Amino acid sequence: MKYQILESEKGSYTGGKEFAVYDCTNREYICVTFSKDVAMKIKEALEKQVIMKPEESIYYVDYCPRCKRFLMENNFLNYCSYCGQKLEIES
Ligand SMILES: [Zn+2]
Repeated sequence: MKYQILESEKGSYTGGKEFAVYDCTNREYICVTFSKDVAMKIKEALEKQVIMKPEESIYYVDYCPRCKRFLMENNFLNYCSYCGQKLEIES
């Protein structure tokens, strides 16, 4: 995986343990937060920015490679409306 969550060894005086979202490819920290939930949400959002190809189905519409739902025409141009995955859409 491209992104990783790192947990601080000890808590900080004000907010407890710190959680950093780390970019393994560019070897840099994206953000630091006191909430593991927030760190995980940010990591998830970043991963969805990594463009994926829609998967072909036997039906007229393709489906999302992440959440496996069908991609309907009224979705935002190159994102899955259900999970927010960025998609490579041929024009
Ligand atoms: Zn999706």
